[in-house]
Amino acid sequence: VSEASRPISAAPTPRTAVRRKPERASYDEAAVNAILDEALFCHVGVVRDGAPVVIPTIHARHGDHVYLHGSPAAGILRDARGGVEICVAATIVDGLVLARSPRYHSLNYRSVVLFGRVHRLRDKTAKAAALDCLVEHVVAGRSACLRTATPKEIAETEVLQLSLTEASVKIRTGPPLDPDADKDLPIWAGVLPLMLATGEPIEAPGVPPNATVPDHVRTWKRAAT
Ligand SMILES: Cc1cc2nc3c(=O)[nH]c(=O)nc-3n(C[C@H](O)[C@H](O)[C@H](O)COP(=O)(O)OP(=O)(O)OC[C@H]3O[C@@H](n4cnc5c(N)ncnc54)[C@H](O)[C@@H]3O)c2cc1C
Repeated sequence: VSEASRPISAAPTPRTAVRRKPERASYDEAAVNAILDEALFCHVGVVRDGAPVVIPTIHARHGDHVYLHGSPAAGILRDARGGVEICVAATIVDGLVLARSPRYHSLNYRSVVLFGRVHRLRDKTAKAAALDCLVEHVVAGRSACLRTATPKEIAETEVLQLSLTEASVKIRTGPPLDPDADKDLPIWAGVLPLMLATGEPIEAPGVPPNATVPDHVRTWKRAAT
């Protein structure tokens, strides 16, 4: 399912260069991949009729590519498959950074921004493989236990492939950066870590009694570590 692509440039391009706090930036392929793999979904931005539109959607990385999918009628997929430049952003929020004054509040995060044009998958086998990747991205281990997608279901799904060639990462970690003069103030400051947690699985109507909650549901977690 892959189209030849260049590896991500280790140096920034004019449009991927992070200007503010460049010490938090990276252009490293492993860093890009790790964030794309952990982030559950992304936001895709395009310019439509001269104005920006940004839409959330699921993505999946496979090697040097990211897949996007949905109804062929979905606006953002229609725009993207038309060959326009798109921008994709995926973000993981790791904590609330709570300072002694409004100015120094922040979030700890890991984020990635990608640029490029998509390639529309037409081959049924390639599309089916990409759909499996999208399922695996959300729930690792699930695609192997599913009914195979029918040709009609595959035909009814648009799958777009974006080569990972132009990307930037930005990562903030650590405590609030209050000025020293504020540190004796009687105000609690620090980081409240955040993570994605699951609740109890809620069974769909009609699930037969012999179909029990699988391990990939019971043990689902997002963090790579
Ligand atoms: C969850 C979250 C919350 C944030 N909240 C704020 C906030 O409230 N105020 C604020 O000023 N900044 C915030 N940021 C940082 C913000 O994303 C930008 O990094 C910041 O606006 C400075 O951008 P710039 O001027 O350096 O780059 P820009 O000129 O905006 O962008 C230039 C290029 O830098 C790269 N880039 C910029 N930011 C990121 C990023 N976060 N991840 C990956 N690549 C990036 C892109 O390739 C982009 O094309 C937040 C980031 C995250 C992830």
